[in-house]
Amino acid sequence: MKLNLRDIIEIPGSRVPFSQEVDTELLDFPSVLEYTAPITAEGEVTNTAGILTLTGTLHAEMRCVCDRCGAEFARVKDLPLRVGVTADPAADDDPELFPLEGDMLDLDEVLTTCFVLDMEAKSLCRPDCAGLCEQCGANLNLGPCACRKPLDPRLAVLEQLLDK
Ligand SMILES: [Zn+2]
Ligand SMILES: [Zn+2]
Repeated sequence: MKLNLRDIIEIPGSRVPFSQEVDTELLDFPSVLEYTAPITAEGEVTNTAGILTLTGTLHAEMRCVCDRCGAEFARVKDLPLRVGVTADPAADDDPELFPLEGDMLDLDEVLTTCFVLDMEAKSLCRPDCAGLCEQCGANLNLGPCACRKPLDPRLAVLEQLLDK
């Protein structure tokens, strides 16, 4: 969707609200099995002393797969949005700013970019996922496997002490 900002470009203090669904077709990640609800975004573009800023939130629900242990897990993402928008063609090179096409802001581009930039390099079912044993393939989140590495000798001493 394109958002028409003609009414606020020249008027400090004015705002244009938006609310839209984000096309998931461009949001294809190996770690995301499916989006379980439409991705929605809402917010507004405001003109503050001549500076245009888009603020809002993006909401996504998805089923992911853990890069470390292979488990599937549900994930809800509520992403706060805050990006600069410029009507100045000379500022085109600034990667922090989204340029207008005439009076129009390409909302799809803004929302898709924010979503992609927020995706972590690694998809983990939980931050401390223990992963799979390299030798037997057991899921170490469920407990240690039979071939777990021998304890550090110092720890072994401690364990003996604790056993008493
Ligand atoms: Zn995991
Ligand atoms: Zn093992």
